[in-house]
Amino acid sequence: MSSALTFPFDAPPPPGATREVAPGVHWLRMPLPFALDHINLWLVEGAPGWTLIDTGLGDPATRALWERHFERALAGRPLERIVVTHYHPDHAGNAAWLASRCGVDVHMTMAEFLTGHAIHAQSSGYALADTVALFRSHGVDDEHLAALGARGNAYRRGVPELPRRFARIYAGERLRVGALEARVIAGYGHSPEHAALHAAAHDVLVSGDMLLPRISTNVSVWPAEALADPLARFLGSLDAFAALPERTLVLPSHGLPFRGIAARVAALHEHHAARLAELEEAIAGAGAPVSAADVVPLLFRRELDMQQRFFAIGEAIAHLNHLAAAGRVMRAMAPDGTVRFATN
Ligand SMILES: [Zn+2]
Repeated sequence: MSSALTFPFDAPPPPGATREVAPGVHWLRMPLPFALDHINLWLVEGAPGWTLIDTGLGDPATRALWERHFERALAGRPLERIVVTHYHPDHAGNAAWLASRCGVDVHMTMAEFLTGHAIHAQSSGYALADTVALFRSHGVDDEHLAALGARGNAYRRGVPELPRRFARIYAGERLRVGALEARVIAGYGHSPEHAALHAAAHDVLVSGDMLLPRISTNVSVWPAEALADPLARFLGSLDAFAALPERTLVLPSHGLPFRGIAARVAALHEHHAARLAELEEAIAGAGAPVSAADVVPLLFRRELDMQQRFFAIGEAIAHLNHLAAAGRVMRAMAPDGTVRFATN
């Protein structure tokens, strides 16, 4: 289906430089020291200054590039406003640093602000120990749990500090983004209250992580909402994007800008439907109830590094919870305390 997508720009801007992708909308790219490789950020011109959407990982490499942007792209024009699509480190990592440097507010949704702080502070239900306990209950072995535990507070490494105050944005509200007027489209399932921005008059959608051209967005279960069905929320959120005009230029956080929203949304629905069917079939054929850890190799047929394995378990639980919520499999607690799934 992705062959139906068109990519009007064949290459990202070089490090430290920008590329205009729509009138007044400039593309920046920042590095990521893991498999995802990079994140796209967007600077939108306005009067008197720029609105920045997302901020990059809060590490020295990204901050060094920010210094170059301050000298070049931002020269002579102040940063006026920061919008953060969601709390993940590659998006929120420099929000506090840039906000205090430029004396501006960070606009984000409330659930993203609070969840970021909960993980940063390792609050109840959001601590690494809670994730380790969740993954243990889903059959992850001691060796991998120890490796996960040894990572410590990975969030804080990517987000040294978070803003202590924010300007709250709401689903459906109109927001000034530089010279553009955008509508906030809330999305669920990838993060608690992701904000995408649609500037209808310019046919531009800043999709954040909710709509990516090549990879399927991570949809995981996390310990504070261990029985949730984030996959249903994610797939439901895509309807709002599918309703946008086909001519809309999608500016994703990873990969290249593209057109072809309907095809991409359809491909994501197909992708998840196929994985769910495969999973249900495997569970039916397993002969005994299976755990999330058991099905990871089925969902991910490639070598996974530690970070990818961490997301893979969360994603496996999300698919199993979805099947259970739909009544396609039964959830049961094995005598050893492991959550297992079986067909009816
Ligand atoms: Zn994300």
